[in-house]
Amino acid sequence: MTVAAPTTTAIDWAAVRADFPVLTREVHGKPLVYFDSANTGQKPNAVIEAVDDFYRRHNANVSRAVHTLGTEATEAYEGARAKLARFLNVRGDELVLCSGTTFAINLVAYSWALPRLQPGDAIVLTRMEHHANIVPWQLVAQRTGATIKVAELDELGRLDLARLYSLLTPEVKLLALTHVSNVLGTVNPVREICREARKRGIATLVDGSQAAPHRALDIAAIGCDFYALTGHKMSGPTGTGALWARREHLDAMPPFIGGGEMIKEVRFEGTVFADGPRRFEAGTPNIAGFAGLGAAVDYLSALGMDNIEAREQALLERFTAALGEVPGLRIFGTAPDKAAVVSFLVEGAHAHDLATLLDLEGVAIRSGHHCAHPLMQHFGVPATCRASLAYYNTFEEIDAFVAALNKVRTLLA
Ligand code: PMP
Repeated sequence: MTVAAPTTTAIDWAAVRADFPVLTREVHGKPLVYFDSANTGQKPNAVIEAVDDFYRRHNANVSRAVHTLGTEATEAYEGARAKLARFLNVRGDELVLCSGTTFAINLVAYSWALPRLQPGDAIVLTRMEHHANIVPWQLVAQRTGATIKVAELDELGRLDLARLYSLLTPEVKLLALTHVSNVLGTVNPVREICREARKRGIATLVDGSQAAPHRALDIAAIGCDFYALTGHKMSGPTGTGALWARREHLDAMPPFIGGGEMIKEVRFEGTVFADGPRRFEAGTPNIAGFAGLGAAVDYLSALGMDNIEAREQALLERFTAALGEVPGLRIFGTAPDKAAVVSFLVEGAHAHDLATLLDLEGVAIRSGHHCAHPLMQHFGVPATCRASLAYYNTFEEIDAFVAALNKVRTLLA
């Protein structure tokens, strides 16, 4: 599939970076180089101030109070839903607000899959899934007698599409896959994959945790049944996220968690549940967090996701070239369509040792299995280092990173 090049405009990236207070920090006496945005993204002032402003001026619960603060709190929360819906090109009444991708996927597992799947049915996953998109399906499989099939990767860390499609046989009820790998950076052609699944009557869930921060998303165009995302990776607060689901699924799904806010009427003889997303939003939500997420969506939209993508691709290109010069360094995942996530190992050095020594140089990267054990098993390694960049990073930081890496590499040799 050919994808049109994004339209970009000139942005003052130094000014953008200045919006992120944490990036001015020193760590162990060195300027912080934060290359762990795939783990969680840093937050601009606009987001921090929105959370602060909510607690200072508007704090109240949503939907219950008729007083002014209650109305303002409801506006902040519902405003975030409306902004996120526009950002994703979906309808607000199809968007369940929740704590993040893990909750969103579990909601689909318990509310959609558990009542539906039977012995003999199958779920297809891919080798590159995060544990959040594996373990819930294993729990469903254990309870329903369904089985799990796994789509494997090629040598560049892409899905082998021919093999994936050959797995989509009549007993498959769901294909759950990530949009962008949190370890390899691979961008999966989810639009094409979802079309193939749909042709075969198979529902699709896309884990968008690592896509939403980096690219303009048009979920309607992807054509999936469910799309999960998490706010803290999109410059928003932790404990925020969303599940988009086709309205026909939301209307057919029983509640997952019961409590206040998700009902129309409660009697001891039985309860009538709310319609649409509210049925899945029991209890007091993370209102301040969603005020912050609304501000994050505004911030990303003002920059333009196409500009963000172009910036991150330029950083990735430079970063990959610079890593290519480091002796003994092996990159895991070299797909042509990649987000700015680079997993690597350096010969003779353990991933955790490298990350610990890099921290002493002010450089923050992640080391470990990245919640992707099956992918580590595929590569036959227990752990990798992962450097993940975002639009607020700089080319100078790449140089500082490579200098620090060369220093610690020689220490470990
Ligand atoms: N899926 C992917 C691909 C991820 O990268 C992550 C976060 N590391 C998750 C799911 C889980 O997201 P959360 O912890 O915000 O629920």
